[in-house]
Amino acid sequence: MVEKIKNIALVGGTHGNEMTGVYLIKKFKSYPHLIERSSLDIKTFLANSKAIEAKQRYIETDLNRCFGKKNLEDGNTVLYEQILAKNIARKIKDNNTDLIVDLHTTTSQMGLTIIICDGHPFHLQLGSYLTSINPKIKILKYSSAQEDLLLRSITKLGFAVEVGAVAQGVLDAGLFQETEQLVYSILDALDKHNQGDNFDSYKSLILYQVIERIDYPRDGKEIRAMVHPNLQFKDYQPLNPGDPLFLTFEGKTISYEGDFTVYPVFINEAAYYEKGIAMCFTEKQEIVIKNN
Ligand SMILES: [Zn+2]
Repeated sequence: MVEKIKNIALVGGTHGNEMTGVYLIKKFKSYPHLIERSSLDIKTFLANSKAIEAKQRYIETDLNRCFGKKNLEDGNTVLYEQILAKNIARKIKDNNTDLIVDLHTTTSQMGLTIIICDGHPFHLQLGSYLTSINPKIKILKYSSAQEDLLLRSITKLGFAVEVGAVAQGVLDAGLFQETEQLVYSILDALDKHNQGDNFDSYKSLILYQVIERIDYPRDGKEIRAMVHPNLQFKDYQPLNPGDPLFLTFEGKTISYEGDFTVYPVFINEAAYYEKGIAMCFTEKQEIVIKNN
């Protein structure tokens, strides 16, 4: 098991138009006692203040794709977010940060999702505990080279909290409160861990493993279909072979032609049109956790 986890970075506004994280961090800065836990030293950050002010995802490029080694070590970067990423990475390192919690929102119906980038036993154990105290929480796992570009990948431990559906630039009070509660649950769990509780009694976990990113059907750059209405807001629900996937502007249904059931997430995420992603397919896995 991992050692004590003392230094926590709690981050909002990595994307400037994701208001829940921005206003939660502002709240924690105004009322620091809310996030005080005896064994933790928690620093709060608003990552991209210029983008927050502009109410945009980013100014010049997506900050949350600038944390790759290549960018951080490149002396010739010029874009605002590329330089900002280096400053943030330095700050995270100078604070001896053990774990990053990066607060995001999505326009997809993903409820309360915790996104982990690897199968580190501590992430799985924590996920098992959190999903048992709140079954609404889902654990989503990425695994590809792309994830090394994310803010939470610069420390060994860390994850994103991704909540939705909420529109960009909008606050949803219900989701705000649920996200706030989730942050407290995470901090309580880390505090418990430091007091010697390894969550050994939590032995299994439902994990959604991202297996494929699906783009819209296109003619060149131009999109020629939309997410099918049957699929809208159906994140984490089974998509079976033959089920409707897209609807063309002429009204023709395009079906899912894979050979097995998948569980799509980030369905129709607004920020992913520019990235060529209509949704991510995941595989639903039941993981048995082996305690060390
Ligand atoms: Zn985001």
